[in-house]
Amino acid sequence: MKCIKCHNTLHTETGDFSMTINGKTIKVINAPVLHCKTCKSVIISDEVKEKAKEFSEVYLYPDNTLDYAECEAGTVMSVMNLLL
Ligand SMILES: [Zn+2]
Repeated sequence: MKCIKCHNTLHTETGDFSMTINGKTIKVINAPVLHCKTCKSVIISDEVKEKAKEFSEVYLYPDNTLDYAECEAGTVMSVMNLLL
């Protein structure tokens, strides 16, 4: 995938971003983001946004933070089961 601003190659990195779902702003951490090393743009793919939206319905922390990596690994549920 190419940068929409300068057309250089984007690199996938782990980063944080904020998004609004149903009028609520949530912070997504440990998510795969696309980073342009040339112009410093950070782009979130539609796929990641879509997944974050799905995860937020199940895994959202009380402080509106969503740990994307943890959700994708499905570890939150197992941790919760261990605690119960
Ligand atoms: Zn760029």
